[in-house]
Amino acid sequence: MEQQNKDRIILHCDCNSFYASVSLLPYPELKDKPVVVGGNQQTRHGIVLAKNEAAKKYGIKTAQTIASALKVCPDLVILPPQRQRYEYFSKIINEIYNSYTDLVEPFGIDESWLDVTNSCHLFAKDGKELAYMIRERVYYETGLTISVGVSFNKVFAKLGSDYKKPNATTVISRENYKDIVFPLKVEDLLFVGKSTKDALNAMGIRTIGQLAATDRELLEDKFGKHGHDLYIYANGLEKSPVQPFDAKREVKSVGSGNTFSRDISGLEDIKPALMVLSEQVGMRLRKHGLYANGVQITIKNPAFVSFTRQKQVQSTNVTENIYKAALELLVKNWNVKMPIRALTVTALDPSEEKRVRQLNLFETAEGQTDEKKENLQKALDKIKDKYGRDAVQSASVMKSDLFK
Ligand SMILES: [Mg+2]
Repeated sequence: MEQQNKDRIILHCDCNSFYASVSLLPYPELKDKPVVVGGNQQTRHGIVLAKNEAAKKYGIKTAQTIASALKVCPDLVILPPQRQRYEYFSKIINEIYNSYTDLVEPFGIDESWLDVTNSCHLFAKDGKELAYMIRERVYYETGLTISVGVSFNKVFAKLGSDYKKPNATTVISRENYKDIVFPLKVEDLLFVGKSTKDALNAMGIRTIGQLAATDRELLEDKFGKHGHDLYIYANGLEKSPVQPFDAKREVKSVGSGNTFSRDISGLEDIKPALMVLSEQVGMRLRKHGLYANGVQITIKNPAFVSFTRQKQVQSTNVTENIYKAALELLVKNWNVKMPIRALTVTALDPSEEKRVRQLNLFETAEGQTDEKKENLQKALDKIKDKYGRDAVQSASVMKSDLFK
């Protein structure tokens, strides 16, 4: 009984079509016209980075080429990306959140979790009313709309903000979570990417309810630590805290890039290049006590047209894991025979703790191996700091002329 009374009140606040909405603020007259952000306005080339609701109705998708979007929608309005404005609005909105609680954990540029368990009563009668107040205030102060999920854990709060958009509040409580959450598709759940979705579907598990009803040990056998988390997430047992908004988390990503002395192509060039960049990223993460929760690669061709892909990873600062993710992204999404002029590897969404371990009741063998690798690498980092990078550089990298 007492445990139930201590339920937390977690809000997940998500800006609706953030990039397109921010870009459209100065042009209210375009609001209902199909608009995309991205590409180059003069040449009308490039890709769609974001779109508004009206553009969505034409079937325009993020990452498709501007040229193909113009084919289905000749009247399409193309606005340039404005990175500084996105960051500015992100900051303003998080400051609003911070006036309701000091436990505000941003998740990307346009989403944050708020733990208002101890402060909610100061402003409103319950989480739902507070969500409404925050939505009103964000709209009043910025002109942007947000959707809010209210629940007793972070995973369900996030499902809530996704459930109804735009400009809506969804409460997922102990009373209604089975009705709301269980019919949803497994891929709606946090950290269920394409490969996990496919594997779950192959097991006949399509909904979160089916996942919740699956034997935990079966999921652990199949997916390891991640399987344990999936079971916990689906059953509403997730307990990870909302991290306080502090200066340390200002680090939004840790990246390392290089423009090469010549165009590189082929795996014999690409592998050592990625290894060096991954190592630099890993070193910086370990130095700051951070773990990457995603990996991104950015490729520039000789015309400096850039191409970016990213994926989520289990929390890590082990070079080998970052390298594996970066290589997988590149091989899957890029013709390795095409020339590359510049390459960047970025660790996304760094956290001060390993996200998965914090949810885990026990250490798996896999986790311990990671631990060993991490300790070994920390020792090597110290040697590198003292004697220079070349002291322990791997042979494939030493042979390469790319970084000379
Ligand atoms: Mg959003």
